[in-house]
Formats: sequence, C-alpha cells, structure tokens
Amino acid sequence: MSKAKQPPVAHAGSDAPATSATPVMFDYAPALESRSVVEIASSYGLYIDGRFVDPVDGGSFKTINPATEEVLAEVSEASAADVDLAVSAARRAFRQSWGVMPGRERAKYLFRIARILQERSRELAVLESLDNGKPIRESRDVDVPLVAAWFFYYAGWADKLEYAGLGDHPRPLGVAAQVIPWNFPLLMLAWKVAPALAAGNTVVLKPAETTPLTALWFAEICQQAELPAGVVNIITGAGETGRALVAHPDVDKVAFTGSTDVGRQIARTVAGSSKRVTLELGGKAANIVFDDAPIDEAVEGIVNGIFFNQGHVCCAGSRLLVQESVAEEVLARLKRRMSTLRVGDPLDKNTDVGAINSAEQLARIRELSDVGEAEGAGRWAPPCELPSVGFWFPPTLFTGVSQAHRIAREEIFGPVLSVLTFRTPAEAVEKANNTPYGLSAGVWTDKGSRILWMANQLRAGVVWANTFNKFDPASPFGGYKESGYGREGGRHGLEAYIR
Ligand code: NAD
Repeated sequence: MSKAKQPPVAHAGSDAPATSATPVMFDYAPALESRSVVEIASSYGLYIDGRFVDPVDGGSFKTINPATEEVLAEVSEASAADVDLAVSAARRAFRQSWGVMPGRERAKYLFRIARILQERSRELAVLESLDNGKPIRESRDVDVPLVAAWFFYYAGWADKLEYAGLGDHPRPLGVAAQVIPWNFPLLMLAWKVAPALAAGNTVVLKPAETTPLTALWFAEICQQAELPAGVVNIITGAGETGRALVAHPDVDKVAFTGSTDVGRQIARTVAGSSKRVTLELGGKAANIVFDDAPIDEAVEGIVNGIFFNQGHVCCAGSRLLVQESVAEEVLARLKRRMSTLRVGDPLDKNTDVGAINSAEQLARIRELSDVGEAEGAGRWAPPCELPSVGFWFPPTLFTGVSQAHRIAREEIFGPVLSVLTFRTPAEAVEKANNTPYGLSAGVWTDKGSRILWMANQLRAGVVWANTFNKFDPASPFGGYKESGYGREGGRHGLEAYIR
C-alpha cells in the first residue's frame, strides 16, 4: 500500500462542511499492480482432450477489459459439434483413465493443481481483474487463495470418499457438464471442478462469455500438472453453447451457477432425463442489524456485504434491515464509510470498488436504480468521480424502501443497497423471508441466543453472524426456494458428484 502523499484532507462526502464527524480522506499515490506479469495471446482455441483446438465452425467472440473497454483477446465460440467432441473426450477419459484411477492417485493430481495455482497466483489475480473488473486486492487476497484452498480441500477427500457418509461404495456419476457465471470466474470453476474430479468424474466446463480467460489459464495449468487428456475440457461460448452442453445426451450431471431464469430453463431441459442437477442461482439477502450490535463492525459488514466485488455477488447483503432505534446512527456511519470507498482502476491496490463487468450489467443496474427512485425511494451516493471510459457505477444506497419496491425484491447484482427498518425480531424475520430467494442472510447482534433463534427462522442456505461473505471450502453453500438446490463445498459438495 502506498503511503499518504500529503497530509490528510478532510472530505465530506456530502455538501456539508467538513467536521470531526466527516471522514478523513488520504490522498493515495497510485499503487498499480504490474500488468506485465500476464501475457495474453491474441486468440484462444477450445481446450478439448488435453489440447487447444480450433472450433469446428470457426466462430469467435471478443473478451474485453470492462475498466477500459480494450479488447483482451479473441475467444472461440463452441458450437454443438464442439460440445459433442468435448463430451466424447470426457467420456473416454472417464472410462479409460480418471474413472478407474484409485482415489489416492487422483489426489496427487489435485494437490499438484492446487500447488500450481498457488505458484501462479499473481498472474491469475491480474488476469481475473483484467477480464472481470474486480479490484486486484480482492482477486489477489480472496478469489485466488480460495481457489487453491478448494483444490487442496477436495484433494484431501479423493482417497477418503468411503468415509464421507455417502454410502459404503461411493461411485462417480460420469461426465459432468458445468456452466458458470462471470462474477467469480476462477472461484466458481474451482467450486465445480475440484469436487467433481475428487469424486472421479470428468468435466466439460463452460465459463461465462464475458470472463473466459482464467478458465483457459486453468486449462493450461491442467496441462502443466499433466492431468490425463479429457479429464477437464474447457469450452467457451455464450448461452447457446451452454444450452447445447446441458442438453447433451451423454452428460450424467449438470452443475449450473447463474441466474434464476436460466436455472429454470436448465431444469426444464433436464426434466425427465436421468441427469443429476444442482442449481446455484440468484439471491436478495437480508443483512439484519439489531440495536445491540457493535455498530462500527456492522457498518464494515454492510459495506463488505454489498460493495465487495461491485455487488456482483449472489449472496450479497443487498437488503439492509436495521432496527428502527439505531437506523439513524447506522445510516450516518454507513454514509460516512461509503464516502471513503475508492472507485477506480481495478489494478490499483488502493481500489475498493472496481468496474461493472459489462455494458449490459451496467444498464440493468441503472435501470433498477432509476425504478427505485421513480417508486419513491431516496437515492444517495457519495460524490465520486468515475472514469470516462469503461463501465462504472458509484456505491449507492436507497432509503425509505418498502417491501413492495422492485429494488427490495429483484436482484440488482450491483453496488446498490436497499435500506428497510424493523422494530421487533419477529418483524425482521418476516421481512427477511419475504423474498422469492433464500441464499444467505446476516445477523448483527450481541446476543448469542438471538443469533441461534434468527438462524432457525431465516429461510437462507447460509446465515452469517456478526460477519458477512465468509467462505471456506469445508463449509457447504447453497440456496432455498428460487436460489436453487444442491450444496457446493464441504462433504455435502461431494454428494452432488457421487452415485
Ligand atoms: P446467466 O444465467 O446469464 O449466465 C450464467 C451462465 O449460463 C453463463 O455461462 C451463460 O453463458 C450461461 N447460459 C446462458 N443461457 C444459458 C442457457 N439457456 N443454457 C445454459 N447455459 C446458459 O447469469 P450471469 O449473469 O452470468 O450471472 C449472474 C447470476 O448468477 C446472478 O443471478 C447471480 O446471483 C448468480 N450466481 C449465483 C451463485 C450461487 O452460488 N448461487 C454464484 C454466483 C452467481
């Protein structure tokens, strides 16, 4: 981190004159991570059967840096014919190598991959920030370390599957089709690939069309680890490619993370087949602050809950429920804290909020925020100079939000917080559960008994207490209701890949 260049300058973050209650902003010198640690080729093929190959139809698309709109590379667009080649390669590998290999041997490959991921972590972090727009501080300190941790964790399971409590003779399912979103490109890959391989399955994975690069790097890491050909296949493309992959008749398992709409389409596609399915979908989590909560910690948790990764987080705490008696104080401190967030170059180590991943996503965030204002909620964002190129949205909050407002019901998937209030714990539970989703929730209070009571009442797959957005490979993650079904992570995550 750079040191303050000048003495601290008072910065109000509002029109009010600076007082002792206003935040002190430091003028940071830029602390840019070097882009040269990663060499991006001008074009990439599909990774099928252990090799990079050209797509059958020769289709391609561009992936750009959302912070600059600069084209990073031309990436292949897989057609149904390519999907077929990838699934055939995965089937062969399942029959001939991976599916018949003892677990202790599979474990060695997974440990090797985990170590290479650690060795190449800086390169992967820079690449992830370039292709996704997330701050380097997050890709470096959160995404990539968790990716390695996921592989280490599941490597440990590969030779102990009989002890996972999933039956005496656990057997792999076969070929897993895996489709992932753009918000945590490499981490979502790890969540899918590591348990599948540990359990003896082979995979065909499709990354999101706006963030394909780290998955292609992962393909290279599989080569470096000398993983047998066909065990991991990476095909790039958009919705059509994903559709062809999940519909392929020789796929045994579909694992999808993405929007609830696409999740529904996938459920319809596989209905009536013998394919096993897990769906990790959207969310509209309540982050609930009681009047006995440590307010400063809660404010940090609120900020982390909604502004981490630009709010492109399925389990983001996008609805703040704050007890009426402390609402004014919490909001004042929250606004003050929001005024200190630095929005800008994702490769700058001082950046807190990076670029929105795509023009489409920015348009959706803008649209829903405008609807919030039109429906009568009060919009507030700190003064914030946004870069003139690229896709940006300031950290924003809405007060006076009612449960009927669209911004309280729909997933915005951006740095936008809706603030609601409550008086009693029962009212907090009712409001928190009043959503079609059920992925996560946060509870901030001094009372352990209240935490346990709330956790029992909340219809959410994960409930964090006095913290938010904490992930660990040993801990299962997944949703209720329209947030999907199945669990990823932990022993539970193996269940999805075992017969
Ligand atoms: P999306 O559903 O548009 O796309 C996700 C993936 O599905 C992409 O790879 C896309 O190319 C592919 N796809 C699109 N149409 C398809 C189809 N008809 N058949 C098969 N594949 C298809 O979602 P997104 O915009 O990339 O991601 C954001 C969504 O992901 C949010 O709703 C977020 O909540 C959710 N998400 C959930 C979790 C979780 O663990 N529950 C984690 C991260 C993101």
